Amino acid sequence: MAKPLSILFVSSEIYPFAKTGGLADVSYSLPLALRELGHDIRVMMPKYGSISERKNRIHEINRLRDFPIPVGDTEWLATVKSSSVNNPRSKVQAYITTNQNYFEAKKGFYSDPLTGIDYPDNDERFIFFNRTVLETCILLGWYPDIIHCNDWQTGLVPAFARTEYAQEFKKAKIIYTIHNFGNQGSFPSDSISKTRMSENVLPTITHNDRLNFMKAGIAYSDRITTVSPTYCAEILKNKQSSNGLIAVLKERSDKMLGILDGVDMLTWNPKIDPLIAKNYDKTSVSDKVYSKEALLHRFRLPMRSNTPLIGMISRLNEQKGIKLILEVADQLFAENLQFVLLGEGDPALESGLKEIAARYPDKASVKIGFDDELAHLIEAGADMFMMPSLYEPCGLNQQYSLVYGTVPIVRSTGGLADTVREFSPATGSGNGFVFQKFDSEEMLGAIRRAIAMYSQTEVWDVVVQNGMNEDLSWGRSARQYSDLYRSLIK
Ligand code: ADP
Repeated sequence: MAKPLSILFVSSEIYPFAKTGGLADVSYSLPLALRELGHDIRVMMPKYGSISERKNRIHEINRLRDFPIPVGDTEWLATVKSSSVNNPRSKVQAYITTNQNYFEAKKGFYSDPLTGIDYPDNDERFIFFNRTVLETCILLGWYPDIIHCNDWQTGLVPAFARTEYAQEFKKAKIIYTIHNFGNQGSFPSDSISKTRMSENVLPTITHNDRLNFMKAGIAYSDRITTVSPTYCAEILKNKQSSNGLIAVLKERSDKMLGILDGVDMLTWNPKIDPLIAKNYDKTSVSDKVYSKEALLHRFRLPMRSNTPLIGMISRLNEQKGIKLILEVADQLFAENLQFVLLGEGDPALESGLKEIAARYPDKASVKIGFDDELAHLIEAGADMFMMPSLYEPCGLNQQYSLVYGTVPIVRSTGGLADTVREFSPATGSGNGFVFQKFDSEEMLGAIRRAIAMYSQTEVWDVVVQNGMNEDLSWGRSARQYSDLYRSLIK
């Protein structure tokens, strides 16, 4: 067997400590899958004020108490605590960075939960965290073979590791994974000096005179990955998708590749999921109905036979295409269907959705908030799952839907294009319903095709089975990451 590698995996969200979206799921299941492949992998993240030490079994480590971290001209104290990420098969060491001012005193991860406004010191918070990551390794005397960073919140780790800390980390290869190009960690010019980077480094960490964490991550990493092959091609091709950094990406295009995220089959699996009404697998799909009943009950909608229930779980923002649903609500709810949505985000989208629910009280219902348990019930209880995204770097929910026999209706973009294929009644192939243009009429067309198939029970069963037969588990993706790491170490 090949020698295990030592890997440091850095992320701003790791389930179950902190989660706003797919990044947290990946930062939980990929390290566990890599551990199962035999690697010595450890994860690092910040400890936000809302994370309970008792519930998450977080405790102090003597060596990592109160060490100084400079941010601009000020020195702050970091204390790094220890915990672990577990599943029934393996365990990964977690280092949790604490600081009273930047993290403990703030309950939100990036924004104030009461106002929804980003914290004004997010630049300092993540400069502090990024430096602490490398200082922690030095204090531990642990110099990993691989440093794997994720999204803007870790973008300065590669930059620090290749400049100020170049001597210590010369053996490390650095991977930078882009989960969402929409947020680059772009801050005003007076944030630049807070990094304490030298003058000659500045062009690589700034963009349009602003500090840009993501640009730094791209510039200083040995490989840049995106979370699906199609998203990788899109950000290299499309100015809008790359959000102003297309030239920077093109320069590094030979170092870029897309690796699809997988599904953690211990967490998202209808056969063993404790959060659904009755467990089922592909031989007992009709048992979905118990979860459908429970779900309709939770959303206060009547149970109707022969009526498909469309589910949605989503951050509510421009990316997720909620706008398309609002645009054609009247046509949509003239159809024989019911609709439940769980999500939170943009107040205008929240109120638009609530207004629709009020207009169609026996067809549509919306819950505003974040509720992991309810998300599982939606995956099991809905007949169809909507993701009309403007862009989608990977998308986990459509993959969970396939596993749960809940047929996805998606726009063909990014990871949605890589995982969902239009069902063909002629050949019996395909696992969902797909529309191409970001257009509400096209979306409506896909929904109508799905409803038409749903009414033909035997055909519908084929679509459902095609989805449930896909192998979406992490195994293959984790091996791709492992192979990538090894290709760099040789
Ligand atoms: P993204 O990462 O862009 O948010 P994904 O589909 O990749 O989208 O992943 C979203 C993850 O976050 C899924 O696990 C989904 O169930 C979860 N999620 C999103 N919004 C909510 C919510 N309001 N309540 C519970 N879980 C949510």
